[in-house]
Amino acid sequence: MSEPILQVRGLVAGYGKKKAVHGIELTLHKGETLLILGHNGAGKTTLMQSIFGLIPPMAGQVRYEGRDITGRNPALNVADGIAFVPQGHGIFASLTVRDNLELGAFVEGDRAKVARHLDDVFSMFPILKERENQIAGTFSGGQKQMLAIGMALMHGPRVLILDEPSIGLAPNLVDRVMKSVAEIKTRFDASIIIVEQNVKYSLPVADRAVVLKTGGIVYEGAPAPLMDHKKLIEFF
Ligand code: ATP
Repeated sequence: MSEPILQVRGLVAGYGKKKAVHGIELTLHKGETLLILGHNGAGKTTLMQSIFGLIPPMAGQVRYEGRDITGRNPALNVADGIAFVPQGHGIFASLTVRDNLELGAFVEGDRAKVARHLDDVFSMFPILKERENQIAGTFSGGQKQMLAIGMALMHGPRVLILDEPSIGLAPNLVDRVMKSVAEIKTRFDASIIIVEQNVKYSLPVADRAVVLKTGGIVYEGAPAPLMDHKKLIEFF
């Protein structure tokens, strides 16, 4: 396996006194797609938000490229190459597609790089190019998800975290979004964490999978065993 890019050690996070995740040990390797599965309320979003700095961890450590980034401001994380696509898109509904994408690149000073990333995003999601002047709020759920991923890619992240990208999407769009994950790895050379409940579509794109249950990890390993429905029920 390649070297780690992101390491989570003994992470505890929650709300007030309540611990939503506890003692999490997790490693994302360079070039890997790591899938985090779990039921509603298992702690997936809390874990991702505490890695990204949106929720300060109560204990434990997050290391990125060997450096301690525990609880670091999300804006600094973005500038340092970590992107987070939240559940529900996080796009600017009143702006055009093009403006949203430009905003996604706000930390990137190198205009040639921005133009290159824009080209890559447009070839991955041609609908964004076709509708670059359309107001983003008028988009369908699937188009908004593509735009949100496109925005995250505009600053060329080395780690991309997607929180339930399939939520609310029709199956053909889920398939399209999951296929884009494989393309992101080759075009952008990014390591990816996908948080999902949609097992069927997400398992095939994962290199490794983790199942969270009531705030702790109950499975970590190859995605293939989880394709077996009985095994999956056992872990969920
Ligand atoms: P979902 O798939 O529904 O997003 P999840 O696996 O991402 O679920 P979390 O959203 O991380 O789970 O929730 C973990 C636990 O923390 C749950 O018990 C939830 O009720 C609780 N929780 C989440 N957000 C808050 C909050 N803002 N304040 C208090 N408790 C919260």
